[in-house]
Amino acid sequence: MISLNQVSKSFAGTRVVDDVSFSVPEGAFLVLLGPSGCGKSTMLRMLAGLEQPTGGQIRFGDMLVADGGSGFALPPARRDAGLVFQSYALWPHMTVAGNIDWPLKVARLPAEERRARIAEAMEMLGITQLAQRYPGEISGGQQQRVALARMIAPRPKVMLFDEPLSNLDATLRVEMRFELLKVHAATGATSVYVTHDQVEAMTMASHVAVMNHGRIEQFDAPERLLAEPSSAFVAGFVGTPA
Ligand code: ADP
Ligand code: MG
Repeated sequence: MISLNQVSKSFAGTRVVDDVSFSVPEGAFLVLLGPSGCGKSTMLRMLAGLEQPTGGQIRFGDMLVADGGSGFALPPARRDAGLVFQSYALWPHMTVAGNIDWPLKVARLPAEERRARIAEAMEMLGITQLAQRYPGEISGGQQQRVALARMIAPRPKVMLFDEPLSNLDATLRVEMRFELLKVHAATGATSVYVTHDQVEAMTMASHVAVMNHGRIEQFDAPERLLAEPSSAFVAGFVGTPA
């Protein structure tokens, strides 16, 4: 479903993503795991269309979404992809339902369809009772649920997450991992999830790409990473017991 062919990204002559190739099937939950500054967010932003690769190709299914060689880039809105960051970025002056409705309005869906989608998304995230509240009147964990509901309401084929749980306390973070996997399974979308947290990666991923200095050190199933790390870096980073 998502495939990258020799993707690179340079900022002012410095390569921050370096010759990355992989592919994951539809419905995969791919985690990009690596230390701060290794290029995870840049990778995700290229998938979202917020940055353009300087080399290589990105495809979603049969659809070419970006080509560093020709400079072709499909605009973010036409990629059928949703993005959630660690900061929730909800509109403070709109209710919970209004926030979830926003992308549906932009997509010009009929009012009846929008109402059904909003109800479905709120139900899935367990926030139906918050519909008429404003973001300032609900907790951080609830705000993150609203951000997730807003992301899934347009039914994207690709869901992109950039450290979405890092602002939550430890208990809530663990709870939200399962919530997120539930949403992923229910939607059938293909997810790419960025984190520097190895436990999060190992518990959530169907596939893990371990990144270091803009390169993929190892691309594997989580259990294979633990059993057969390909380098000392991977072994150290995924915390293989001594
Ligand atoms: P991560 O998300 O893994 O922490 P990033 O993708 O944010 O890493 O950053 C990778 C590298 O690219 C860092 O060295 C960062 O400073 C650099 N970088 C990211 N965005 C830009 C930008 N817009 N301009 C210049 N350098 C950038
Ligand atoms: Mg980042």
